[in-house]
Amino acid sequence: MKEIYLDNNATTRVDDAVFEEMRPYFCELYGNPSSMHYFGGQVQSKVTEARKRVADLLGATPEEIIFTACGTESDNTAIRSALEVMPERRHIITSRVEHPAILSFCRELASKGYSVTEIGVDGAGRLNMDEYKQAIDDNTAIVSLMWANNETGVIFPVEEAAAIAKRHGAQFHTDAVQTVGKIPVNMASSKIDMLSVSGHKLHAPKGIGALYVRKGTPFKPLIVGGHQEKNRRAGTENTAAIIALGKACQLAGEFMEFENTVVKAKCERLEKELMAAIPHAQVNGGGAERLPNTTSIAFEFVEGEAILLLLSELGICASSGSACTSGSLEPSHVLRAMGVPFTCAHGSVRFSLSRYTTDAEIDAVVKELPPIIARLRQMSPFGREFLK
Ligand code: PLP
Repeated sequence: MKEIYLDNNATTRVDDAVFEEMRPYFCELYGNPSSMHYFGGQVQSKVTEARKRVADLLGATPEEIIFTACGTESDNTAIRSALEVMPERRHIITSRVEHPAILSFCRELASKGYSVTEIGVDGAGRLNMDEYKQAIDDNTAIVSLMWANNETGVIFPVEEAAAIAKRHGAQFHTDAVQTVGKIPVNMASSKIDMLSVSGHKLHAPKGIGALYVRKGTPFKPLIVGGHQEKNRRAGTENTAAIIALGKACQLAGEFMEFENTVVKAKCERLEKELMAAIPHAQVNGGGAERLPNTTSIAFEFVEGEAILLLLSELGICASSGSACTSGSLEPSHVLRAMGVPFTCAHGSVRFSLSRYTTDAEIDAVVKELPPIIARLRQMSPFGREFLK
């Protein structure tokens, strides 16, 4: 059975060209880029090239890119750094729909005496800007708002939010893990101070990330040790993965238009055809500006997990929420924050496409899913009662 992989917000396949680019750096060119000899120097020059490629995708300069182990590390680093460089400020602003990489860390900081405000969203997942404007003050050290939501694809107005943060002297960080490679990002014309990237969301391997830190932004490292990354992130560089991330960013730039035309059209068709074929369904975040590759649909009176299992038997891979929270039967914190009714939140399925998604795969989901939903509703006394 060939899989139909529509779970690209959880992780992506490594692009063949990315894999080929990193391959020599395991067994042949395995030198340490910090070494003085030519053998390490060969690797150093490829790391330099990778840094430039990441910077180019972000509209940044290479000096503004710090390689990390993952998006989570980038997120934690940004928040910890702001608190360290402005110890007199004890307030953090974030949103209720962030990834656990931000939310869990902020909640831990709250338990240690920091004041944390989690800004809410409306029914379409849009940030409550009035609440944000009221919450921010001159005690705010950092505002961390995701650029695009991993579950719904809803895009936040991060530029506007960053401009507000600047007026209060707070640093502004955005978790752009789901954004980079999907929509254009240009830090040259931005007020954002720090931005997180994760390789495995854009066809690079797992376990590599980057943190953009605007030139001149006061910064303290999270991991201290050697002098790597200009003293901003210690630890011998994961050279092969860094080189892979560079290649993936170069390709993401080349595919940007494709993502926003071809992939977007496939995603819209999937959404439209499923909505037409299945009654009592709603798009989570419908009406809001969203990523080109993501659709999250709530099917009333069914369990998302049951849908996923039946799809999985047919080789169709989707998700019922964030990969990190699946396994728990609690409705996702994102859908709860949006006020999605319990009967819908439970039956939500996220489809996230990539440049590898084919029309035939979309056709297969549109054919297979409606009978699955009908069958599950028939099996549920609750569903039968309501849908009579
Ligand atoms: N932030 C968002 C929005 C994500 O979707 C994810 C991964 O799912 C992360 C952060 C964490 O990234 P990583 O898996 O590289 O730690």
